[in-house]
Amino acid sequence: MALRRLPRAPRLGLRSRITLAFAASGLLLSALLAGSTWAITRESLLTQREATATRQAYQNAGYVKTQIPDEADAESIRLLLTSLVTNAAPLVRTEGGDGVEAWVSDELDQDALPTSLKDVVQRGDPARMRYDLDGTPELAIGIPLPEQNVSYFEIVSLDELQSTLESLAVSLFGASLVTTLSGAALGYWISRRTLRPLSNVGVAAEAIAGGRLDTRLEGGDDPDLEALVTSFNHMAQALEERIERDGRFASDVSHELRSPLMTLAASIEVLATRREEMPDESAQAAVDLMAADIARFQQLVDDLLEISRFDAGVARLSLDDVSPVELVHHAVEASTDRDVPIEASPDLDEMVVRADKRRLVRVIANLLDNAEKYGGGATAVTVDRTDGRVEIAVEDAGDGIPAEDRDLVFERFSRGAGGAGRRTGSSDGVGLGLALVTEHVRLHGGEVRVEDRPDGQSGARFVISLPANAT
Ligand code: ADP
Repeated sequence: MALRRLPRAPRLGLRSRITLAFAASGLLLSALLAGSTWAITRESLLTQREATATRQAYQNAGYVKTQIPDEADAESIRLLLTSLVTNAAPLVRTEGGDGVEAWVSDELDQDALPTSLKDVVQRGDPARMRYDLDGTPELAIGIPLPEQNVSYFEIVSLDELQSTLESLAVSLFGASLVTTLSGAALGYWISRRTLRPLSNVGVAAEAIAGGRLDTRLEGGDDPDLEALVTSFNHMAQALEERIERDGRFASDVSHELRSPLMTLAASIEVLATRREEMPDESAQAAVDLMAADIARFQQLVDDLLEISRFDAGVARLSLDDVSPVELVHHAVEASTDRDVPIEASPDLDEMVVRADKRRLVRVIANLLDNAEKYGGGATAVTVDRTDGRVEIAVEDAGDGIPAEDRDLVFERFSRGAGGAGRRTGSSDGVGLGLALVTEHVRLHGGEVRVEDRPDGQSGARFVISLPANAT
């Protein structure tokens, strides 16, 4: 049975995780603090309230005890109760000699008292109880007065205390929320600060990958990061040296090959001038083949030398204000086909860009030569201005380049576009032309691409896109 790996659940980024951890710690701590503050405050407020209410109930009970007349009737008890100075609701339970009980109160019914409390007081014990009456918290205190055969009760409303506790809960909740959000903000800030060195490493690596090999990380004064900075800079240094060595090797080899090649070229030229004197046709063919291969070899060495200058990072632009339309005219004049139509709107005649004229003329001429070699000749060269860029395009009416080969043709030693035979193709080029075009244009901050012709006809359209910011 085939084992299928399930896709991993997406993990949160480091910054989000640090922020969340801080927020969770803030929430936990503030919830703990708020919970315990609320519980302690509630307990102490209730205890205080109960103590005050109990004291007052005993005072009132004492007053009732002394003031209640023997054989008191309900009316005199009610009068006595109204004379009490209390913010509680008082109730008196009397028990006649015949065991018949009666309740006297100005405000409440005896049902307002919990039965269990009544039972305890009836058995002769003073009692106190917190309970809920129709959704309102109440405190009931009952004090038996056996000598008078009555029991004195007070019901104190804890409503005010409840609302105080509710406002306290709201404030504590708000404080917890603020603490949690502050924790998240602190976490975000700390994560940014902590990860800044890592993003610096990312930026530096990106710069090195983009060709700025001399990029290094700044040490700073953080001993914890020193090891990372040192090893990164070591790696960058080793990479730079290695690439320089490789570049130097290619350029040294090319240099060394130049003079024997020149000798060979001169010799073959001498032979070529005597070509007609050769009796054998196969000898003539051999001279032709050698002349063609030596020319190709020289082209390869020249291209290699040039490309190694890019690799070594020593290629420099000699910038001037140049007109793209004029560049195209120069390139067409320098190419084999001088009749290629140039399409540029008249408003572009006045336009100038900062560019190295010699390099760009060579680049356009190279594209024109390729159109000649592989596309039966260029059909048009266009100059356009789009979104802050100038685009110079060379079109031909050949077979075009298949979509899957459009990146490959710009690679070094890429020849004969079209699948497997690509690298061993039939063209007489060396496969460095478009790679050099890319390097020249990249040095200008631009890019090259190949696409279909916009009119839908067969053929390739090579586009050089340059930033027009210096216009
Ligand atoms: P070379 O030096 O061999 O001409 P290039 O880098 O200039 O190398 O071109 C690479 C390959 O891209 C060529 O071998 C050719 O197959 C293809 N190519 C270049 N220009 C065109 C074009 N205009 N039409 C079709 N194919 C092209």
